[in-house]
Amino acid sequence: NMPVIYVVTPTHTRPHQRAELTRLSQTLLLVPALHWILVEDAAERTTLVADLLAKSELQYTHLHMLTPPPMKLKDSDPNWLKPRGVEQRNEALRWLRENRSAKDQGVVYFADDDNTYSINIFKEMRNTQKVSVWPVGLVGGLRYEGPLVTGGKVVGFHTAWKTHRPFPIDMAGFAVSLQLLLSHPKAQFDLTAERGFLESSLLAPLVAVEELEPKADNCTKIWVWHTRTEKPKLKQEDLLEKQGKGSDP
Ligand code: UDP
Ligand code: MN
Repeated sequence: NMPVIYVVTPTHTRPHQRAELTRLSQTLLLVPALHWILVEDAAERTTLVADLLAKSELQYTHLHMLTPPPMKLKDSDPNWLKPRGVEQRNEALRWLRENRSAKDQGVVYFADDDNTYSINIFKEMRNTQKVSVWPVGLVGGLRYEGPLVTGGKVVGFHTAWKTHRPFPIDMAGFAVSLQLLLSHPKAQFDLTAERGFLESSLLAPLVAVEELEPKADNCTKIWVWHTRTEKPKLKQEDLLEKQGKGSDP
């Protein structure tokens, strides 16, 4: 039996949420032995997400954790102002520590709801011993960011932004063995980490750069992209609303 891939996805309510979760859930259907941990940034689980999961044919766990209002990104804020999805990912880590044990073989991957994933990346991560890594496309102001590999070892990173980060790796560029996380019960994402240091805040206590396991043909293939969805323009809704003809939600 294969190690289970636990895919942790923070998600939040917005007009295109169902579109994002449809795309992601249908990618995940192509992956065997996968357990989706979807964590809503909400005070309660919503019926929109509950219904989508129930119909998805995936194995899943539906959690929620509201980002405290002072930490929450406002509509008017630039998206980089505050960290996003942090407490949701930590809630998934809490769930795993409570519900999985030394007998469970698995790997944990943090998959945001708007990225684009090839099924190849899931094949690559499944046999992670400690922490595996690979490049991520369209991130860090570059065509890709990724580990530099010599003789099968990570010797540095292709990155241009805050190059002094201990692990200059996007959230989508690594997976962690479940057992490593269970054996470090305090390891989690630091909500107060400086911008760009969130991934490092989890990884630094778990692993050294020399121990990273390069995947995707020694980090030469891009099998995940940090795509972002354009915010839908819905200003005509207000117009129709005033005429009592707004779209049925
Ligand atoms: N997210 C969230 N709450 C928020 C904003 C974002 O849970 O208030 C989730 C979002 O759905 C995504 C992840 O956190 O899965 C990362 O957010 P986003 O994709 O906006 O960040 P970026 O692309 O800038 O890294
Ligand atoms: Mn994103």
